[in-house]
Amino acid sequence: MNSVAARPATFFELTPANLERMPAMTDESSAGFVRDAAAQFGDRFGSLTFTGENVRRRLSPATLSRLERTMRFGDPLDRAIADQVASAMKEWAIENGCTHYCHWFQPLTGSTAEKHDSFLNLDVNGQPIVEFDGNSLIRSEPDASSFPSGGIRDTWEARGYTAWDPTSPAFIVRNGGERTLCIPTCFVSWTGESLDQKTPLLRSEEALSKQAMRVLRIFGTADGVSRVVTTLGCEQEYFLVDDELASMRPDLVLCGRTLIGANSPKGHQLDDHYFGSIPHDVQAYMAAVEERLYELGIPAKTRHNEVAPRQFEIAPLFERANVAADHQMLTMSILQKVARHHGMRCLLHEKPFAGLNGTGKHNNWAMSTDTGHNLLNPSKMGGHNLQFLTFVCAVVRALDLHADILRATVASAGNDHRLGANEAPPAILSIYTGTELGAVLSELAQGKTSEFATSADIDLGTTPIPTLERHPGDRNRTSPFAFIGNRFEFRAIGGTASVAWPNAVLNTIVAESIDWIATEIERHIDANGSVEAAAVDVLSGVLREHDRVIFNGDNYSAQWHEEATKRGLPVLRGTADALPAFRQNDIGEIFEHYSVMSKAELTARVDVLFETYIQVMLIEARTAIMMAETMVLPAATRYQTELAAAVAATSEVGLECPGTGGRLNDLVAWVTKLETAIGQARAAISEQESMEHSGGSVDAQSRHIQDTLIPTLEAIRGACDAIETMAPADSWPMPTYTDLLFAAD
Ligand code: ADP
Ligand code: MG
Repeated sequence: MNSVAARPATFFELTPANLERMPAMTDESSAGFVRDAAAQFGDRFGSLTFTGENVRRRLSPATLSRLERTMRFGDPLDRAIADQVASAMKEWAIENGCTHYCHWFQPLTGSTAEKHDSFLNLDVNGQPIVEFDGNSLIRSEPDASSFPSGGIRDTWEARGYTAWDPTSPAFIVRNGGERTLCIPTCFVSWTGESLDQKTPLLRSEEALSKQAMRVLRIFGTADGVSRVVTTLGCEQEYFLVDDELASMRPDLVLCGRTLIGANSPKGHQLDDHYFGSIPHDVQAYMAAVEERLYELGIPAKTRHNEVAPRQFEIAPLFERANVAADHQMLTMSILQKVARHHGMRCLLHEKPFAGLNGTGKHNNWAMSTDTGHNLLNPSKMGGHNLQFLTFVCAVVRALDLHADILRATVASAGNDHRLGANEAPPAILSIYTGTELGAVLSELAQGKTSEFATSADIDLGTTPIPTLERHPGDRNRTSPFAFIGNRFEFRAIGGTASVAWPNAVLNTIVAESIDWIATEIERHIDANGSVEAAAVDVLSGVLREHDRVIFNGDNYSAQWHEEATKRGLPVLRGTADALPAFRQNDIGEIFEHYSVMSKAELTARVDVLFETYIQVMLIEARTAIMMAETMVLPAATRYQTELAAAVAATSEVGLECPGTGGRLNDLVAWVTKLETAIGQARAAISEQESMEHSGGSVDAQSRHIQDTLIPTLEAIRGACDAIETMAPADSWPMPTYTDLLFAAD
């Protein structure tokens, strides 16, 4: 598919990065766009966030500038300023109908948490007053014991704190008539260990900024730049199914995916859904979702049908990583909430339907100066842009050295269905550079600098249609980590995942490589004086050592699996294979060295990831057994009785019915297989329980789940699906794939 022609939306993104790449668009015409957008979106965009005019109107210029410094440069905020901000925030929230506020945070459960407090207090005379001061804004004290902590906190020492993150705007959540002020916060234990997703991300941004600034100083481009930030745009895929049908399936209700279910005769063979016209009911839903997102200042941009039936995608404009990560959590929650109002259920699970495309989250990531210059944009400086190449080489080195831990950041029970299977993207992490960048890097590996091929125009051969600027680099849809013109796209994150964790790890490993490269360049400069010569020397060495991680071919092919193994790249299929990467001692040291996580925090986090995997798999196993025993087997037995009666009655009248007899035989065989598989699954669960009771490690329990329990679940599914294809449709006890995927169209 010619993606350039097919995706006009990306051409008109009003981002500084994209405007830079649109030479045909003058400043004046882009300003025109901005004015139109303001007229169309201005009133509602961000109306429920404490940003822009909502803040400016309520704070003195001095306070405002202090707050802005905190938001932009991370300057500490003193108590007096916090009081003023709190008072303005309260006033704004109450004007907007809020009665309560909450510290909104992201514990290691993978979702968000909130504890509401009302603004109510009593004065000395016992009269009700409205109160919210700097203290309540900055800090709150939820009970930490009921959130996963990987053993950092025992229940008897449960104190935990949430701490205001001024870099992510406070917002108001509407729930029917109720409105609550939500304050994005970090969640830490009483002893200061992070217990959430946000804290490591913020710390990793600090680490990356510090190292990237060194590179800017080396190349003399640091003037006026205070820090380097990472930018993030996450494309979220999702499925929409009928709510009533979904509620008739315990697997969808409890696990968010179908554990059994025979394929529908139609899937995505015809490719007729991708970018097809959006169904009427879905378009109404999307508009309602966008309405909610705009209010919260979430810049939803693109919406379209995805590959599988009833699969769709939403993508926002990119933002600073921390804000984008918060907005991603809110987007997932809004997608799900609004669906229920529209009689639908939104499935974010990585693999809701066997045999159909899974659900991922493409993580578009770049580094940018706080003045808005994208450091991964090659065209800006033209020619042999060594600073750009330094950052690219740092990413190449980071991925080669730490492919295993980046792989581990996306390991989860759900994502195993995508990464471990022959699906998009594979479990092997490699980088796609595209032709132009690939050519420049090959030259650089030889110690030569070369021009970055300037992007040509695509002439469509018709006069009325403007020529399109060709992006630097084609797209490769099969690569898990692709350079696409001015950013890297990490495509292995699962549909339900929080993006904060993978990005925290990505930032940390890239920071380490930038640090290493900067130190080497500085050393070479000391030795021979020229920045350029030093950089070329160091970068060519990096590429020669690490170019095995670059792969521009088809990542789905069997040859790549062989080739990757030859190159020594890690092939980590399942969660039990992937998570142990975090246990390596030197990995703990890296996180500690860059102050992203202490070894104790990392250990705890990995324990939680293992534990979550185990619990999710146990819930799936118990649900599958329940459905097999209470739904599939009774249906099978009824049909078996019917067939047996037919065979008996037929032979009683002196006739033979070999077809019916054969069907009965097959059915009995599948029922027997199903019963055996259920027995094996139960045995595997008991074994896990005894491992747990005897204090077996979560690592070993996960290994057992992956190697022993999962094959029994696959056998259960195989038998149930075979029975479904034989059993009478009019009495099958749950909605089928055809009902779920096509009935609504
Ligand atoms: P596609 O599906 O073709 O990859 P989309 O338009 O759906 O493209 O999504 C691309 C995403 O990449 C958007 O969220 C966009 O804002 C984001 N993006 C663009 N430039 C950058 C950048 N410099 N940093 C981070 N994200 C970016
Ligand atoms: Mg993309």
